[in-house]
Amino acid sequence: MKNPIDNYWNLKLEAVKESLENNNFEVFITDTAEAAKELALNEIIPSLNPQTVSWGGSMSFIGTGLFHALMDKKDLTIINTFDRKISAEEMMERRRQSLMVDLFITGTNAVTEAGHLVNLDMMGNRVAAMMWGPRNVLLIVGRNKICGDLEDAMVRIKNYAAPVNTMNLDKKTPCVKTGVCHDCASPDRICNYWTIIEKSFMKKRIKIVLVNQDMGF
Ligand code: SF4
Repeated sequence: MKNPIDNYWNLKLEAVKESLENNNFEVFITDTAEAAKELALNEIIPSLNPQTVSWGGSMSFIGTGLFHALMDKKDLTIINTFDRKISAEEMMERRRQSLMVDLFITGTNAVTEAGHLVNLDMMGNRVAAMMWGPRNVLLIVGRNKICGDLEDAMVRIKNYAAPVNTMNLDKKTPCVKTGVCHDCASPDRICNYWTIIEKSFMKKRIKIVLVNQDMGF
């Protein structure tokens, strides 16, 4: 067999897709990040016809190239919460406004084989938008985010995703130095809001593109 690893993951992605669909998510599978971008730009986003778009922190979303493609579109009102040139006050206000857009795009820290989304947030704006506010939510999810169950998902997030995220964001937390969670009390602590999304309400409000590549942390 050619590409047994990709074949293994394709079988896994198909099984997770079925679980997610049973939980009322709308799910797509692509082989590559580039294909995920094209699917979003040419099919998913046009079908939703959004006027306003925003996003929450996600290396997977950026990794597809979709972020830069959307920033170039003139027919959308973008609330850009990734703009590092604005003040902290303006950033907070944009995050508040992003809860009312037509389409919110982000990723998830983990997805279980039962089709549940598991996340750990610093401020909560990303998970708040996933659960309520934006008319539709689009998640870009690499195969590396698949976990067996809730316990596996929480271990993955706390022992891997959170320390790597603090390193990426240049936070002043002990895990940056050790690579291990110290359950810190740092002002820079990014681990504040655990969420488990078991189903999408309304049906298909949350759309998920599963990518047969490792994406993000
Ligand atoms: S609780 Fe603190 S030390 Fe632990 S992963 Fe989060 S930021 Fe790092």
